[in-house]
Amino acid sequence: MTEGFLWTCPYCSRNATIIDSNYSSSIHRFEHNNKDGDLWLETTVTVCPNKDCKEYVISAYLFKAVRDRHSNWSHSVQPLLHWNLRPQSQARIFPSYIPQAILKDYEEACLIRDLSPKASSTLSRRCLQGIIRDFHKIKKGRLVDEIEALKGNIDPLVWEAIDGVRNIGNIGAHMEKDINLIIDVEPQEASALIGLIEMLLKDWYIDRYEKQQQLQGIVRISESKKKIKNNDESEKKSNSSE
Ligand SMILES: [Zn+2]
Repeated sequence: MTEGFLWTCPYCSRNATIIDSNYSSSIHRFEHNNKDGDLWLETTVTVCPNKDCKEYVISAYLFKAVRDRHSNWSHSVQPLLHWNLRPQSQARIFPSYIPQAILKDYEEACLIRDLSPKASSTLSRRCLQGIIRDFHKIKKGRLVDEIEALKGNIDPLVWEAIDGVRNIGNIGAHMEKDINLIIDVEPQEASALIGLIEMLLKDWYIDRYEKQQQLQGIVRISESKKKIKNNDESEKKSNSSE
């Protein structure tokens, strides 16, 4: 690697250019008469250059090993398998003022996404229900009724997307009436649902928290100004009474 590559740290969410000094990889080529022939196992380590983070990310890829026209070993373009070893999923780290039960469902939805998109979308659905109940204080038993109650109170496009999560998540949560009808949830659908959950956590919880912090800051400033003014006035009074 000579030029480096652009990368987003999964721990601090910052963008960085990764160069040789914070990246390394190792290759294990093997065959041993296995059924798939020559294989190429590559592990990579990437360290976040942000000085407040310095987290390290470990991944592994299994490729088909191939010889190029000069008989040098290289590998197939697409990996046969890919593992996120650290962190184990693409879950973003959210602040702890978001309820733990919601974060747990979100993290598990991310963790299982590639192995079982159906299970992942079911968890996303439960996570969504947790968010609506906690953030909007709507509790009606069935998610469909809770989403209905949300209508008109939020951005119509966001509402439509939320209703979409319910529909996709339902497939994993309940047996279809016709048991022979298997509707698969594609990994990209499970990813889209996770993306929606991330958006809601940011737009609802984080924005509300940051707004509160900003407003509290303004209140503190005005209070300290008032105190100074009051002190000034009481000083003037005591001076004039002397
Ligand atoms: Zn980082």
